[in-house]
Amino acid sequence: MREALVGHRCHGPGLREDSFHLLGVCLIWHVFMMYHCVTRIQGRKAYTNALHYRNRSEDPVNEAVFRWMRSADASRPRYAIASHNLHRYLTETGAAVENYEPLADPELYLRFAEIDSDELLLKFANTQGWLLEPTDLDGAWCEPLSTWHFQINKCRAVLDTLELLDAWASNDEGNDRGAAMRALAGRIRWSTVGAETDGRPGNLEKTPREKARRLAVYEYQGFKQFIRPLTPGVQFIPGDVVEPARAFVAQVINWELRGRASIAIHAGANGALEQRIAPSNLLGAIWLQAFQQATKRTRVRRCDICRKRMDITEHRRNKTVHTSCSLRRRMAKYRERK
Ligand SMILES: [Zn+2]
Repeated sequence: MREALVGHRCHGPGLREDSFHLLGVCLIWHVFMMYHCVTRIQGRKAYTNALHYRNRSEDPVNEAVFRWMRSADASRPRYAIASHNLHRYLTETGAAVENYEPLADPELYLRFAEIDSDELLLKFANTQGWLLEPTDLDGAWCEPLSTWHFQINKCRAVLDTLELLDAWASNDEGNDRGAAMRALAGRIRWSTVGAETDGRPGNLEKTPREKARRLAVYEYQGFKQFIRPLTPGVQFIPGDVVEPARAFVAQVINWELRGRASIAIHAGANGALEQRIAPSNLLGAIWLQAFQQATKRTRVRRCDICRKRMDITEHRRNKTVHTSCSLRRRMAKYRERK
């Protein structure tokens, strides 16, 4: 027994030390994993709670008021851009968030359509928050930048088309309707499909080229979409670009609002119950504003100085420049005189 023990001791120490090391490493790894899981679950719970909270204000009467989350402190931005497996994402850091009302800013969608760099995208994300409910990627909440770019392009295509349609319809003096028409024709193309694609083997003679369908397509700066007629059963006149342009706007906005906005009752003045459209996420709010412009509930024009679009719904009809642009110009003139 003793010899066995001694013998064991002779061989043992190296082995036993090894297994102790292994046990130690296992223990540390377990503790780390437990900590990792707990913090992950806690983090997710906090986030779900916050998401849950955003549409539930303290005042149940104001359920119809759309709320979203954004960085609480501009000096500590919540959102950042990261790469993962060759894809780029918007991710979040631990910085604080706050609830706010995105629709209080009538130019939200105009600024969204102007995003043309990572810098502007991050600035928009930090002042407005996620576009949609983010997804979980390896334990981090994120949103693919491809979604952002696709939606920005789409929003820009719709706003440009609305502007060209307005220019085409306007009878204002000095308005060049022909130029608007030519610009529309540069975006709405007519493509012939049928004879060559419809051709099942041996069927080509029965489908002559003249019978091929001519479809309207919106195609401009990397954004392409086939356009269906606005009124079912009423076909476009081949070669026309105005009706297809109107249908394009309706088609995109209807599609983007699907499932992203609903109708709710809001407390109006003197206790009256009023209808309100309540978006379910920031993208819904952006397309709701585009919907309001397309249906003439809001008015938009370009500033004569900086050429950026501005909302003039609440202003007198002859507002032509941003207040800030006009002030800057007056200051420049004043400095010149000095
Ligand atoms: Zn301006």
